[in-house]
Amino acid sequence: MSELVGEARAELKQASKEVKESENVAEKYSAMTVSKNSEMNMGDLSTVLSAVPTHKPVKKQIQFVEDKQEFSRFPTKTGRRSLSRSISQSSTDSYSSAASGTDSSDDETSPRDKTQVNAKGSSDFCVKNIKQAEFGRREIEIAEQDMSALISLRKRAQSEKPLAGAKIVGCTHITAQTAVLIETLVALGAQCRWTACNIYSTQNEVAAALAESGVAVFAWKGESEDDFWWCIDHCVNTEGWQPNMILDDGGDLTHWMYKKYPNVFKKIRGIVEESVTGVHRLYQLSKAGKLCVPAMNVNDSVTKQKFDNLYCCRESILDGLKRTTDVMFGGKQVVVCGYGEVGKGCCAALKALGAIVYITEIDPICALQACMDGFRVVKLCEIIRHVDVIITCTGNKNVVTRDQLDRMKNGSIVCNMGHSNTEIDVASLRTPELTWERVRSQVDHVIWPDGKRVILLAEGRLLNLSCSTVPTFVLSITATTQALALIELYNAPEGRYKQDVYLLPKKMDEYVASLHLATFDAHLTELSDEQAKYLGLNKNGPFKPNYYRY
Ligand code: NAD
Repeated sequence: MSELVGEARAELKQASKEVKESENVAEKYSAMTVSKNSEMNMGDLSTVLSAVPTHKPVKKQIQFVEDKQEFSRFPTKTGRRSLSRSISQSSTDSYSSAASGTDSSDDETSPRDKTQVNAKGSSDFCVKNIKQAEFGRREIEIAEQDMSALISLRKRAQSEKPLAGAKIVGCTHITAQTAVLIETLVALGAQCRWTACNIYSTQNEVAAALAESGVAVFAWKGESEDDFWWCIDHCVNTEGWQPNMILDDGGDLTHWMYKKYPNVFKKIRGIVEESVTGVHRLYQLSKAGKLCVPAMNVNDSVTKQKFDNLYCCRESILDGLKRTTDVMFGGKQVVVCGYGEVGKGCCAALKALGAIVYITEIDPICALQACMDGFRVVKLCEIIRHVDVIITCTGNKNVVTRDQLDRMKNGSIVCNMGHSNTEIDVASLRTPELTWERVRSQVDHVIWPDGKRVILLAEGRLLNLSCSTVPTFVLSITATTQALALIELYNAPEGRYKQDVYLLPKKMDEYVASLHLATFDAHLTELSDEQAKYLGLNKNGPFKPNYYRY
């Protein structure tokens, strides 16, 4: 008990320290002006950028179940097996079905063996088929329509060119939405070289369109793991071109540069990392005193976590399940493992369609939230025999074990929405007594000796990113956050950011949100002077302290 009290006291002390820090931040931003509907012009943005506090922002330490991903394990061999441990789990998760259906080319030649040239005569890229560029351009234009906030940032900042001189190497999914981000960075003055963070997710026609427009892209759908590292190497290592910024999703490019090109890595001005895995790797490096570059943790930005994780999953969970199984949800018994952001999004969607939803949780706070939202919190073993669908959303491993899969009823569906393919013990299903039958793309029936079938989706990889598309608008929020993080790190005066991992200042999170409000014709209420004084806030934000949880 006394231990608990001690811990609670320590937390309280930390919280009050954070309040003080955020008050300082508010003061720093007091010079900023926000127009009526809370949109800033570029002058305001510059003020934001120059008003970033010089003190170290509150860092959020991420807890991991297992510390297996480290930078010290450098892939020296190029064989499939040797690389598979080094590649991050996200790298082998496939992405959208939009990506999967788009390659009309039946040319089996590896892009590495082809010589291709774009209209400007450059061959500094490696894509499946440069001739698909026009089709890819149309895909990018469609994505732009639902990314108006990012486009608006592009327009506002275009004349100032806040990324002039930036040489960005990027490793993300290469889809129409990320193409809009890359082209925004180029419009803001950056030179970009890009590669894919996932061997399946590249939209070939989009990669072709980027290559045609002059971006050095090294990516195609269905890369081998050897190709994956080859592409990263060609992205970062080119004669006479020294990258100074990294935008990473999963940490593989950062890992490669850190290990293989330490001298180039040391000269990087900043890293922006999107994924939980990549951020974890950065914190590990920082903890070991080996991080020699400032890094921005975008994963834990409010505008990423509270939107991408929650709303993206709320929108796409049903899509992924419907496309693969045609299941009807009304009256179905569904168990969602994990009631964090992703779990909350999935449950909201399932409940709305009349499913009977059960939750499993390890954390009493999230469990209590689930209870108060009207869900039954159970242990998986208590209901495993009755449920129709299991969805894992924990980021943990072995949440659904072989023993539990053995006890599921005929026709039940198992899938995962978490980051990696470790949540369902899929490996344990690859035994001689079980038969696997591929019934549709990404749909396997696993058949027990007595004829029972369990329907496994996407081999336990991220369901929505493997079997459906994800909403462009949500990606616009994340992409705008990434663009601002790059601008901030690139323009920060020396000393503002040390060799550590930072969160984006809250003022910028608020700015990203305000840019997206226009889409909904949402009208913000402005604080009166009296109200601002009463709440102790600057009228122009930030409106919440750093510890506020939304
Ligand atoms: P979170 O930390 O908010 O939630 C995870 C929850 O799982 C926590 O509440 C935790 O207590 C619980 N949990 C952990 N182990 C458990 C277990 N054995 N049984 C039951 N509950 C358990 O994280 P999040 O933001 O919800 O993300 C969850 C996962 O989804 C992460 O891997 C994340 O990278 C991934 N993610 C997926 C998408 C997508 O589009 N599919 C989007 C964002 C994030």
